[in-house]
Amino acid sequence: MRYLPVCLDLLDAPALVVGGGPVAARRIDLLRRAGARVTVVAPELQATLAGLARDGSLCWFERDFEPADVVEARIVIAATDDRAVNAAVASAARAAGIPVNVVDAPELSSFIVPAIVDRSPILVAITSGGVAPLLATRLRERIEAQLDESWGRLAVFAGRWRTRIRAATAAGATRRNLYDWLLEGPVAAAVRAGRDADADRLLAERLETGDAPAAGFVSLVGAGPGDPDLLTLAALRALQRADVILSDRLPPPQILARARRDAELIDVGKRPGDGPERQAAINQLMVEHARRGRYVVRLKGGDPLVFGRGGEELAELRAAGIAYEIVPGVTAALACAAHAGIPLTHREHASALQLVTAHCRGTMDDIDWSGLARPGQTLAFYMATKELTSVCARLVAAGLAATTPAALVENGTLPEQRVLVADLARLPEAAARHAIQSPAILFVGAVAACASELHWFGAVPLEA
Ligand code: SAH
Repeated sequence: MRYLPVCLDLLDAPALVVGGGPVAARRIDLLRRAGARVTVVAPELQATLAGLARDGSLCWFERDFEPADVVEARIVIAATDDRAVNAAVASAARAAGIPVNVVDAPELSSFIVPAIVDRSPILVAITSGGVAPLLATRLRERIEAQLDESWGRLAVFAGRWRTRIRAATAAGATRRNLYDWLLEGPVAAAVRAGRDADADRLLAERLETGDAPAAGFVSLVGAGPGDPDLLTLAALRALQRADVILSDRLPPPQILARARRDAELIDVGKRPGDGPERQAAINQLMVEHARRGRYVVRLKGGDPLVFGRGGEELAELRAAGIAYEIVPGVTAALACAAHAGIPLTHREHASALQLVTAHCRGTMDDIDWSGLARPGQTLAFYMATKELTSVCARLVAAGLAATTPAALVENGTLPEQRVLVADLARLPEAAARHAIQSPAILFVGAVAACASELHWFGAVPLEA
C-alpha cells in the first residue's frame, strides 16, 4: 500500500490554496464543504471564486505566492498551471511540516486527494494512488449509482438509535441481524420516504419484541418498457433487495437478471381469458408474502400506475395494513416515442398528449372519441393491436382526417423494435401485412410522421 487513507478534521482550520482557476475552485469547494477557512493566493480569480471572495466566504491575496504564506495553514494545496510555482509551494509547505497537495503531481505532494462519494456522514474515498485517475473516476460513478441519497439520512438515523440498539441487543449475530433488517427492510424504506416517525416506531417495536414486526413491505416497481438501461436507480435497488418478486409477463429476462440472485420469482402475468379472480389471487399473494415479513417487489412493465392496475393493488395493501412504496417507471408512451424519434409535443403540431387504453372494461363506446379527435394533440393508445382497425375507424368517424399520421411501435426499446408509419386510413391493413404483435403502442397525430426522419434506434421504420 503506497498511501494511508485518513480523514482529516478541518472544521474551522486555516487552509491555503495557491491558484485561482477552475482546478483551484474544485479544491476550494471541497475544503469549504469540510468546514475549512480558506485563503487563496492568486493574481486573478475565476468568477465563482471572485464571488466568494467578495462576500467574505474566502480570503483572497491578490498577488503571487510567497513562501511565508504557508505559515498559518494546516493544509496547503497548489493548483496553478505553473510548475515552478507549484514546486515552490510544495517545498515551502514541506519545510514547515505542513501537509501539501500539488494537483496532478503526486511526486511533489505529501498527500493526494481521492475521488469521493459524499453521502454525509457516510463518505467513500477512492484513489488509484495517482496511477490511473480515470479508473478511480469510473469506480466512483458505479458507487454513486449504488448508494442512493438516503444513505446519509439512514446513517444519521442509525446513529441516533445506536446507544439504544446496543443496550437492547446482544453483540454478535443478534445485533448484526437487526442491522441487516434496519438497513434493508421497512425502516430504511420509511426513512427514504421521509417518514422518520414511522421508522422510529417500527424500530422501537422491534427492539421491544426482539422480532421483526410481522407486516413486511411491498415495493410497487415500474420496470420501464423493456430495455434494462431504462430501469431507474430506485427500481434497481428494489430488485436487488427483493426476497420475492411478483412479476408481470412484460419485464424481459434482461431485467429480471438484475434482481438479487436468491430472490424468489413468481410469474403472475395475466393470460388472455383470465377472469377477475386472477387479480384477486395476485393481491392475495402480495399480502401473504409481505405478512411473512418479506421484502416483496411487485414488478410491472412501464410505470406501475399507468394502465397497470397499480391503484387497485395499493388499495388492497392499504386495507391489509401493509407498508408500501411506489417506484415510478418509464411508461411505454414516453420510451417508445423516444426510441422511435417521435416528439410527443411540438410547438407547431401538438400542445397536449393523451394516454388512452384501447382495451376497456366496458366497450369502446365509453371512450370520448370527439375529445380524442380534437386537433393539436398527440394520442398514445396502449394495448392497441387487437382493436387497431376499430380505433382508426372511430377516430376518422369522430372527425380526424383519414390522412392523419400514425405510428405503431412494436417491442419499443428492445433490439427487435419495429416502427410502422402510415396514415389512419392505411395503418390497419399495413399492420396486418407486417404482422405487428403486442406489445405495441399506437401514436396518432402530426408528430407521428417525424419517425420517418428522426428515427435513430433499431430497424428503419416500415412504411405502408
Ligand atoms: N404500465 C405499462 C402499460 C401496461 S399496458 C406502462 O406504463 O407502459 C400494456 C401495454 O403497454 C401494451 O399493450 C403496449 O401497448 C404498451 N407497451 C408496454 N411496453 C411496450 C413496449 N416495449 N413497446 C410497445 N408497447 C409497449
